[in-house]
Amino acid sequence: MNIDHFQPTFEYAKQLDKDDPLACFREEFYVYPHSIYMDGNSLGLLSKRAERTLLETLEDWKRYGIDGWTKGKHPWFFMSEKLGEMMAPLVGAFVDEVIVSGSTTVNLHQLVATFYRPKGKRTKIVADELTFPTDIYALQSQLRIHGFNHYTQLIRVKSRDGRLIEEDDLIAAMTDDVALIVLPTVLYRSGQLLDIKRLTAEAHKRGILIGFDACHSVGAIPHSFSDWDVDFAYWCNYKYVNSGPGSVGGLYVNRKHFGTNPGLAGWFGSKKDIQFDLEHTFIPAESAGAYQIGTPHVLSIAPLIGSLEIFAEAGIERIRQKSLHINQYFMNLIELELADMEFVIGNPREDERRGGHVCLEHREAARICKSLKENEIIPDFRAPNIIRLAPVALYTSYEEVWRVVQTLKKIMTEKEYEKFSNEREVIA
Ligand SMILES: *Cc1c(COP(=O)(O)O)cnc(C)c1O
Repeated sequence: MNIDHFQPTFEYAKQLDKDDPLACFREEFYVYPHSIYMDGNSLGLLSKRAERTLLETLEDWKRYGIDGWTKGKHPWFFMSEKLGEMMAPLVGAFVDEVIVSGSTTVNLHQLVATFYRPKGKRTKIVADELTFPTDIYALQSQLRIHGFNHYTQLIRVKSRDGRLIEEDDLIAAMTDDVALIVLPTVLYRSGQLLDIKRLTAEAHKRGILIGFDACHSVGAIPHSFSDWDVDFAYWCNYKYVNSGPGSVGGLYVNRKHFGTNPGLAGWFGSKKDIQFDLEHTFIPAESAGAYQIGTPHVLSIAPLIGSLEIFAEAGIERIRQKSLHINQYFMNLIELELADMEFVIGNPREDERRGGHVCLEHREAARICKSLKENEIIPDFRAPNIIRLAPVALYTSYEEVWRVVQTLKKIMTEKEYEKFSNEREVIA
């Protein structure tokens, strides 16, 4: 993406904020007055609307008790379906293909338990060696449940440079002994965005089902899961979707799979109108709702209602445009102001291959992050050498990005980082 007339000045940053059509959303969030939050890719900030819908839900509990399931502002019995409808535009799906339920890891277990159907010599699962560990643990344990050796049956496609995974290498791993492929949409360290459409088409050509972990793309990037014919996807809502720590996740199942019995069945997956008949014969919903398990975690869903109102108003296409633009601005500044300081930008540079954060590599990354914190800037560190910095479209300003780069420059030139040890904290 070109940034026309890029200048490294403070005035130019102010001008970009003035011209930003999404700038009005910043005041919807509790941004910190004295510090700069660059970690929205790990935990999004609280918005006033998310706070409001959480408080409204507490009020419904206070007022209605058990009747809150069907009464009040946001009746609990229908919440997961209603929010699935509200989320569908974020992932490019039909409204009944999305349900808000469970967590990333639990939904992955559910979807693999449902769609991993080893048959004959088709028994392997393909993932990649840079994926988030929980995905690997879940896939390995699913293989063990089926009585397979999780070392030989789980293929982890190698990265050529430790940062990126080449689509060609993934496609080469789609051999006729593979039953299922599970990949991230965006890699959590380098921020590489995979070509979901191409990978899905190639998997299907070879009779392989494909699912995506969309934790690092939902809320930052538009998707077309239905059009691309993706079989399933799952994600959390506490990163770019700003729904709060431990908030309930989401899953997508392609309509063509409706009617497939859930691998992990539970009563909230029932057809809704007969759930309370309480029969012992399980009749699953004919929608993504079938893959719910038990009672929804209502208080951890409630903030999502308000948060998704903001997404509906801002529009995911505009969010992506700003995200690409502000990240490009950030990279331009880094290259200019931090030249010769041994920083390497580890994310891909092409718009169609990058996600929502900048991956900044440096051998002193851990202590640079501690220095940033001392300077009231909140980054996140991924061992051994990655500083992830996410300018978030809905609440980060260009001025803040400018200040982050100026602070990094000061930390490096004045060697402020040297007073810290180069080790990670408990949570990094
Ligand atoms: C954040 C993240 C998770 C987290 O899983 P939880 O079940 O929500 O703890 C999983 N996968 C990826 C790629 C993530 O980025």
